[in-house]
Amino acid sequence: MRYLSLRWLLFGAAFVTLTSVVGLLGITVLHTAQHQLSHYATQRDTRIAHRIARELVVAFRHGGMIRLERQAEVSAAQWGTGLTMQNSSGHVIIAAHPPGAQSTGGPSASVTVPLRLGAVSIGTMTLVHPPIFEPRLSPVLQAIEQRLALAAVLGFIIALVVSIWVGREAAGPFRKVALAAQAVAAGRRDIYLTPAGVSEARTLAKDFNHMAEALNASETQQRQLIADMAHELRTPLSILLGYVTALDDGVSIPGQDPMTLIREQTRFLVRLTDDLQMLARADSQALELRPQSVEVRPWLKHTVDAVVDMAIQRGITLTVVVPDDLTPVAWFDADRLRQALSNYLDNALKYTGPGGRVTVSAQSDGESLMLSVSDTGIGVDSSDLPHVFDRLYRADRARARSTGGMGIGLAIAKKLVEMSGGSVGVQSVKGKGSTFWLTIPVQRPPVS
Ligand code: ADP
Repeated sequence: MRYLSLRWLLFGAAFVTLTSVVGLLGITVLHTAQHQLSHYATQRDTRIAHRIARELVVAFRHGGMIRLERQAEVSAAQWGTGLTMQNSSGHVIIAAHPPGAQSTGGPSASVTVPLRLGAVSIGTMTLVHPPIFEPRLSPVLQAIEQRLALAAVLGFIIALVVSIWVGREAAGPFRKVALAAQAVAAGRRDIYLTPAGVSEARTLAKDFNHMAEALNASETQQRQLIADMAHELRTPLSILLGYVTALDDGVSIPGQDPMTLIREQTRFLVRLTDDLQMLARADSQALELRPQSVEVRPWLKHTVDAVVDMAIQRGITLTVVVPDDLTPVAWFDADRLRQALSNYLDNALKYTGPGGRVTVSAQSDGESLMLSVSDTGIGVDSSDLPHVFDRLYRADRARARSTGGMGIGLAIAKKLVEMSGGSVGVQSVKGKGSTFWLTIPVQRPPVS
């Protein structure tokens, strides 16, 4: 089914509006002119009728019916109008016409005035058509009609031109956006629209350009992600293949037990796929948080206790700083937030050498709970800082590989915190250490 296009809609609207305005204006002007002219003619007819009536009464007074009849002829000729006189019972007793007017069709009454001799009525006098002003006024009316007809034709042409222009000007840019969208859908990525036309169309073109840029960026990111993931998977899989082939061939591997190494690599792969799966579920809204009222101190202790052994093994001093006025309870998903904080803690221990310090702090202000993990480790270069929360981003690829990093822990922490309505951030000085923090709202959000 074909729908009405915007272009035709605007064309139709402009055309109907303009022609209606021109038409209504013309009809109004014509009607007003006719009304005013006919009013003027009636007034003139009435004035003349009274004058003739006076002349007839004077003639009657001085010479009776004979003078009256003659005067009627004279007045009819003088004023160029037909006239009749009726007696008091309504019978026509005199009819006079201007010379040559008898043949112009049946006369019809226009104005009737009484004839009085003092207080006595001697009848009535009626002017009959064609009244003297009609022939004079009709050319005026005709001229007005002609001008109006010309104005109407011109108005129609202008309406046509304006409506075609409006339709093209307003709908054209939208059509361009539609064509551009079709081209993008067909796979083209080099489309840029120059904003043009009405402001809405300009905004649409700008939004389209932003959308196309975002699409390009997202596709580039996706390609990069797949390349990174292939790289991530390739290394452990190559190691595994090496060990398995060696075992199969009965070649002995010096150093560690091959089964332990195979288990380590397999665990690494399982963690990588688990983390990726969690991010994918979070992206597709399939990951649901289960917030609840959590006692903050015990929860924090439990979370930090899990890494105490690792800190001791690495010779790192692990400290927890909690102020007395810390909110006792907060509303969040205990497991997911623990996962986020654990990723911070793992990194802090991973990127801090023996003898270093890792400090976990908690603060609250009634509205939000802020948790931070500071370390005296290697720090992050300022050029890497904006990207550390990106997926599969590792500031130092060679080192990260040796420490088992996949560049995904911070991305997961960010996602989980943002899903809880909070935010994450980092401050770091290369070579001195880093502070990774997260904040979440303390209160349960109002039920909408
Ligand atoms: P990874 O598994 O590689 O640690 P993350 O997403 O957790 O992945 O971290 C991304 C990158 O951010 C790391 O590769 C590392 O370069 C940097 N990074 C994270 N935490 C720290 C830290 N505490 N100190 C120094 N660098 C860090």
